[in-house]
Order: sequence, then C-alpha cells, then structure tokens
Amino acid sequence: MSKTKIEWARDTWNPVVGCRKVSRGCQNCYAERMAARLARMGQWKYQTVVSGNAWNGRVNYVDNSDELLAPIGWKPSRVFVCSMGDLFHDDVPDTTLDAVFATMALSPRSTFMLLTKRPLRMRDYILSRWAMDDSDRVERAPQWYQHVTWLLDQGETLLGRRWDRAHAAAEGLDLAQPLPNVWLGVTAEDQEHAEARIPVLLTTPAARRFVSVEPMLGPVNLHDYLSTTWLPVGEAHCTDPAAGRVPPLDWVICGGESGPGARPMHPDWARALRDQCRRAGVPFFFKQWGEWGPLEDHIETGRRTAPVCLVKPDGATVRPYCQLDAPGHQMARVGKKAAGRLLDGITWDQRPEMRPC
Ligand code: SF4
Repeated sequence: MSKTKIEWARDTWNPVVGCRKVSRGCQNCYAERMAARLARMGQWKYQTVVSGNAWNGRVNYVDNSDELLAPIGWKPSRVFVCSMGDLFHDDVPDTTLDAVFATMALSPRSTFMLLTKRPLRMRDYILSRWAMDDSDRVERAPQWYQHVTWLLDQGETLLGRRWDRAHAAAEGLDLAQPLPNVWLGVTAEDQEHAEARIPVLLTTPAARRFVSVEPMLGPVNLHDYLSTTWLPVGEAHCTDPAAGRVPPLDWVICGGESGPGARPMHPDWARALRDQCRRAGVPFFFKQWGEWGPLEDHIETGRRTAPVCLVKPDGATVRPYCQLDAPGHQMARVGKKAAGRLLDGITWDQRPEMRPC
C-alpha cells in the first residue's frame, strides 16, 4: 500500500506500471516523470518501462502473489488503481485483469477507483466478464471465474483473512453483478475527448462511473452526460439495455495541470463545470488549480513576481506580458501548493457515497 497525496484517494495500488501517450492530456504525464525517477533510483519495476525520461511503451505487471493480493489485507480504504500507468493498456493481458478484479472482489471493504484513457478496452473486458449468464461465464471467462473461486477455496490461508464461500456470501459477493466496490472512470481533458470517452464509459456496467477533467485544457460541457440518456436499443450495454437507458455520470473531478510545462486552466471553465454539476445534482470535486492560479487570488501575497500569462476563453495561452490587455484571464505561475484548491473561496470535496465499511 502506498499513501497518496492525490486528494480524491487515500492509497494507490499499482499492479500494472508503464504506458504510452494517447492524447494531449498525456503531454506532461506525471507518472512518466515519476517512473523515470524511480528507475534511476534502481527500482526494477520501472526500469523496463522507461527509456531515459520517457515511457518506452512497454508495461510491467506484477506476477508475484504477495503484491497482487496485498489489498485483501489492508484496512478499508479509497484506492486509486494504477496511478503509474493505465490498467487497460493494450499490452496488459486479460489474465492480469482477471487477477486484479479477483483481488478487488475479495477486498469488499475498500473502494477501488480505476481511471483510464482507453475506455474501449475497459468496456470490452468488462462485457466479456459480466454481460453473460452463469453458465456462459464459466465457459467463456474461465480465468476470471476460476481465479476468484480458487482464491475463495484458499479459505483461511488468504493473508490471514477468513475468505471462504460462506464468508463471501455473507459479504454479499455476487460474481454475476458488477463489483459494488469498483468505480470506473475516464479522463476527459477537453470536449473532444469527453465526447469520445464518456459515452463508452456510460455503456460499461459499473457500480459507479466518473470522469476526471484533468488536466483541464479547454471548456468542457457535460450536459448530455449528467442526466439519464436514451440510446437506441442495442447500443446501450447497460444495466437496462432493453430500454436503452444510460444512467448519468456519478461523479465529476476537475483540476488544472501541475509540474514542468504545465498549461493553465481558465477559471471560467472550472466554474462552468461546477455549475453544470450543481444543476444536475452530480457530486463535484475540485482537485487543484495546478501550477497556475488566478492572478487576483495572489496579488496580495507577495508573489507578484511570479510569471503571468493570459488564458483566452478558447484555451489559447498568451505569455508573458505581451497582449495582456486581450480578452482572457490573467493567471500567475505560483506553484501547485500556493495555487491551492479553492474555487471562488470554497473547497469542493463532493463525492458519491461509498459502500459502507
Ligand atoms: S494514459 Fe495516463 S499514464 Fe498513460 S501516458 Fe497518458 S497520462 Fe500518462
């Protein structure tokens, strides 16, 4: 278990590390920077997934059972799965996904949050394991089903926790339903990627579905995804496919970019997203401003020498001082800590209800 400073989680668990960049949100990938540093420090897990300071496109997945089963022995937690890669990278085999989902199934007192930029792979995998009846499941998804049942058959020997079929039933473990403690999410850094990824997410069976608009690189309108949507029958792949009803997003996270090369976020983009969520009654979590904060919030704090730029409403950034009288918002590079996470003076920490521990 690794404690994390990521505001919406308590711990991270990395059964898979490594990645390949897929969209503009990946440009200044934090995990890539951290993996390169850990590789230089000699951590073998990261040495095969980076070349120099960059991802090399390879992934590394744990094959030792201690690390794979570790969350079963943890105290109840909110766990960000794969903060150092993307679990649904094409090169992660289904058998590894089966093992990861089996561990989460047997850790029902923790909530696991999976965030991907590859929702098609995620949906294909989830549908291949859950959208079938019991007899099909045994025949068509033997690794997933057998992995869980094998773990259950270990009984008391499993990390000191009593896990046999009777206890599984008492915990409400039902392999025919999406795991109640697993939340699925996608990143949507701009409108284009919101429209490409969120409909796929919303047609993937899951206990909770969320979107992380981070790093926010432009205005994002989620109106179509914050209330029930109707799809033509046959496209729904949801809990009520016959009716073609797709449930709304359960949670929206928003944040600006941090680290070297960070791109600023216009305050009005974050405000608009917050207001959309409030109108729809969907929990909104403002994670951070990132490296750049609104200039007016820092003008009195002695940081007037911080670099300043102008963010135009369409996302174009002008810097440094030239054209600062053009339409847009002045942002100061004060650093992530000083920029903080207040939006209009309020900390937005809303989240969906967790399964009671
Ligand atoms: S998908 Fe995530 S982990 Fe992979 S390169 Fe992009 S930002 Fe980094």
